[in-house]
Amino acid sequence: MDFQPLLVTPEQSIGESLWFIFRGSHLLVTDAEEIINLPDDKTSAFFAHFILRRHVIDQLQGRVCYGIEVSTQAASPPGYVFASLRSLFGRTDDALLSLAGRAFQIIDWDRTHLYCSRCGTPTTLHTHERARICPSCQLAFYPRIAPVVMGLIIRGQELLLARSPQFAPNVYSAIAGYCEPGESLEIALKREIREEVGVEVGNLQYFRSQSWPFPHSLMVAFTCHYQSGVIAPQPGEIEDARWFSMNDLPMLPHPVSVARQLIDATLALMKSRHHALH
Ligand SMILES: [Zn+2]
Repeated sequence: MDFQPLLVTPEQSIGESLWFIFRGSHLLVTDAEEIINLPDDKTSAFFAHFILRRHVIDQLQGRVCYGIEVSTQAASPPGYVFASLRSLFGRTDDALLSLAGRAFQIIDWDRTHLYCSRCGTPTTLHTHERARICPSCQLAFYPRIAPVVMGLIIRGQELLLARSPQFAPNVYSAIAGYCEPGESLEIALKREIREEVGVEVGNLQYFRSQSWPFPHSLMVAFTCHYQSGVIAPQPGEIEDARWFSMNDLPMLPHPVSVARQLIDATLALMKSRHHALH
């Protein structure tokens, strides 16, 4: 899917616009059990008096995408509900989900950078960049993106998986943590793994990345190989960490997450190698 980031409404567009209407962190969608949809032009007009901020965020196949924040007083029209982004996983297509995450991050950036953090002057929107500018001292505020490294540790036919206290019950996943200023992704990942489970790894291989709008992370996933050390879970961060055989895994994260894709792809590769050997 190709995004065409936009700042202003283009002169030409095709069909109805795509409306990402947020109340707080919840998005307006059709009230349906399975597949959900966004509101149409007519429904979005219902919110005209409740708009707090409005951004042109993209153009998807000729359709202009708007990110809109409405006040907490705005009620959902009949047939629609305000739903959390997480609740939409698996119930809409990836392009819409990505755009919803993008709209949410732009709205969140806009509402949290209304004043200059250096001199306190109210900021204004930049005319040709996605930025807010301080008219007094010219400091620019861009949307924040926080890189998070993730590593799936392989040892023979086993994977090291761990549980954070915030995970859903019984779910285990790869190790992940924020990059610190000055670190490369590789250094950050080795440090996180050392801190969280006490082992040393090598042979890092990039897998893929995923935008994770809770609130503005960029997940960067790797596989790596165990080198040394005994598992020692970091108190407060890791509730449990263990080696799991590739044939006997615990509950894993949701299939939409890059963590799950990383685990599934690695397992598939391990199993095909295992079969080739036997
Ligand atoms: Zn300033």
